[in-house]
Amino acid sequence: ITIYVPRDSTALALGANEVVAAIVAEAEKRSQPIKLVRNGSRGMFWLEPLVEVATAAGRIGYGPVEPEDVAGLFDAGFLGGGAHRLALGLVAEIPYLKKQERLTFARVGVTDPLSLDDYLAHEGYAGLQRALAMAGAEIVQEVLDSGLRGRGGAAFPTGIKWKTVAATSAAQKYIVCNADEGDSGTFSDRMVMEDDPFMLIEGMTIAALAVGATQGYIYVRSEYPHAIAALDQAVSTANRRQYLGENILGSGHSFHLEVRKGAGAYICGEETALLESLEGKRGVVRAKPPLPAIEGLFGKPTVINNVISLASVPIILARGAAFYKNYGMGRSLGTLPMQLAGNIKYGGLVEKAFGVTLRELLLDFGGGTVSGRPIRAVQVGGPLGPYLPESLLDTKLDYEAMAAVGGMLGHGGIVVFDDSVDMASQARYAMHFCAIESCGKCTPCRIGSTRGVEVIDKIVAGQVQQIHLLRDLCDTMINGSLCAMGSMTPLPVLSALDHFPEDFGDGAADRA
Ligand code: SF4
Repeated sequence: ITIYVPRDSTALALGANEVVAAIVAEAEKRSQPIKLVRNGSRGMFWLEPLVEVATAAGRIGYGPVEPEDVAGLFDAGFLGGGAHRLALGLVAEIPYLKKQERLTFARVGVTDPLSLDDYLAHEGYAGLQRALAMAGAEIVQEVLDSGLRGRGGAAFPTGIKWKTVAATSAAQKYIVCNADEGDSGTFSDRMVMEDDPFMLIEGMTIAALAVGATQGYIYVRSEYPHAIAALDQAVSTANRRQYLGENILGSGHSFHLEVRKGAGAYICGEETALLESLEGKRGVVRAKPPLPAIEGLFGKPTVINNVISLASVPIILARGAAFYKNYGMGRSLGTLPMQLAGNIKYGGLVEKAFGVTLRELLLDFGGGTVSGRPIRAVQVGGPLGPYLPESLLDTKLDYEAMAAVGGMLGHGGIVVFDDSVDMASQARYAMHFCAIESCGKCTPCRIGSTRGVEVIDKIVAGQVQQIHLLRDLCDTMINGSLCAMGSMTPLPVLSALDHFPEDFGDGAADRA
């Protein structure tokens, strides 16, 4: 009998290892042979630790399980899928999961993330096998045709980046994965790295074949020790089994991959600051041009893509561009793994085709706020994303539709606030965050953010006439900053002022 208990850090934080210890002890006590598999998380965090038992009908779930529940589960015959107050039925039939369109996350929660054989048994490396039989230009064309756009936030077409690097004649080119997932409320990169690391490795290997690169780096934030450990182990297995290294699967192609740890700076998620950091320097933003695709890591042509962008590549190659672009709408094709966080009843990962509305996500999947109070605001796209009021919840999640209402999709993180939120303090927090995380290279961001905190403090203290000063300051930051950190910090500030002026004090609404 096979029992699955996740090894994902969310499950671990909620006591998965203690539950495993209790299951092993109870099985021994009852002389009951079991096989334990540490799978990834399904991304339904309110059910973690989610214990699954393989039965002839499929995997039956129980959760959230605590160590003291384990003896009772054995008594109830859970090894045969028996009834229990924690029983959830067939996991694949849980509506939260069933209503999703999991392409990138198809294996997540199903397989043992560290087992290459399990990966291979679930369509793993089918994309690479096809890519090995194609010319580099054909791989680039497939990615271009799929419509894949950068999932890190900027939504730049991935295939164009690849095409630019492929067209250079440098002897040394690099593939860099941006795994410095620092946006508030986001965890999809972490889940890929912990719960299906071979998928990321495969995506990077395909990218290397496409552009002619032989060396790659995964730059992971230091706050993700479990992801780093999973990647290290998967890279070493892939090297041993010839899916990485010299002469991949006897093809004559070589690709070497290393994992690098960041040092805790939000700005190192900006691609040029990340490259500086990877070179061993302080993470400061570089002026563009030159683009990293022309002069990137160590001055060489470099593909730099986010985890989800690269992890989307294997299925595009395995099933073809036409299959992938069949999902989505307009110029937003394929799926986006969205992350529900903040004040939400059912927080977790929801992968859907572009075009789902915020309301569907927050109510049909998320179940509304955990506090039970009405939703007042949502922030989509991380700390630089504008706050959207309840009246905009019918907006479709699509890059262009979000931009049309002054919003953004970013990396797909959605943070929910109920009607007890004070939007003036959220605006202050945006400026404060920028002041702490600014790389310091340019004045509007470095000084402007500190002045922004002071001005907001004065406004809420009653000096509402300073609102025009705050707007001027935001204008300077938007137009005078070198990168998105300084130019986008005003977006949450201005959206708070535009949609929730009453929170800035008496008379603020008249001056906003
Ligand atoms: Fe650095 Fe801020 Fe300027 Fe970006 S906007 S380069 S983070 S100082």
